[in-house]
Amino acid sequence: MQSISELVERALAQINAAATPAALDQVRVQYLGKAGELTSQLKSLGSLPAEERKAFGQSVNAAKAQLEEALNERKSVVGQGAKPASAMLDVTLPGRRRLAGRPHPMTVTAETMKRILMGLGFTYEDFPDIETEYFNFDALNTPPWHPARDMHDTFYITPTDGEHRLQTEAELMRTHTTAFQGRVMRARNGQVPIRAMTTGRCYRKDDIDASHFPIFQQLDVFAVGTNLTMSDLRWTLTELAKGLFGGEAKLRFRPSYFPFTTPSAEVDVSCIICKQKGCSLCSRTGWIEVLGSGMMRPEVLKMGGLDPAKHQGFAFGIGVDRITMLRHQINDIRHLYQNEEAFLRQF
Ligand SMILES: [Zn+2]
Repeated sequence: MQSISELVERALAQINAAATPAALDQVRVQYLGKAGELTSQLKSLGSLPAEERKAFGQSVNAAKAQLEEALNERKSVVGQGAKPASAMLDVTLPGRRRLAGRPHPMTVTAETMKRILMGLGFTYEDFPDIETEYFNFDALNTPPWHPARDMHDTFYITPTDGEHRLQTEAELMRTHTTAFQGRVMRARNGQVPIRAMTTGRCYRKDDIDASHFPIFQQLDVFAVGTNLTMSDLRWTLTELAKGLFGGEAKLRFRPSYFPFTTPSAEVDVSCIICKQKGCSLCSRTGWIEVLGSGMMRPEVLKMGGLDPAKHQGFAFGIGVDRITMLRHQINDIRHLYQNEEAFLRQF
């Protein structure tokens, strides 16, 4: 037994000293080969008294296992000689591109608009997707009977029946980011001027098709001050359009109706694809509808704690999805919300 532990010690020292695969193999043969030192120990087993054989056999086997393990470990350090062809590096192969994350095209569009408007003095703030019925509708002069408040169009969070809909503290998924107007005016506590914007997801019970999705993203902007007129609105929108679509972009205002503005206008931008010669994107009209806007109604200013006799405001809301689709000529809104890597990788 004593001699076996000495033998193991000696072998381990030689294994650790072996610097090449060949030297290591020599050590293996010296101890574990057919005529190896440890192997020949087993041959002496027969000459031992019967009661000692078992213990001696076990210690020889343990020593063998220990040396094999040490040999394997050392083998990985000194290398295994020539590598197999499959592990060789072929420098002529094309590299593997690592897929990097990138901003969603809608994020890029929203950030571009934010940057342009910040340059015009607008401040940015985020608001929650869950809004009270009061700020979403009442504070925006949308009467209780208005069809937009119907449960068929709006996702209500507070359980409601027909009557509870008139409860203004009911919660819902905001149907437009315009809901932020009341919150901003209240927070400013009567102080003007205000130049504010927000963007985020809005929710409506729309049937899904190429241009409708129950979730969509808006960017909403408003300004309140003294002596503000439609021309201030028009100037702001023209600057925004130039930044988004290039210096040649022209705007067209068409009379429209929103409960929270008067006068109200739908705004079209000159077709960026055909330069107004007529194409399928603009339905051969040369114009593309991009946003809704108007002068804030006195009722809305009043509910925000401001005096409509002293102050005026203008407001506009843009579909971030729509602008993104225009900029990249995407023909189906569903692409923007389905998180398909193959689609998103193009941007
Ligand atoms: Zn066109």
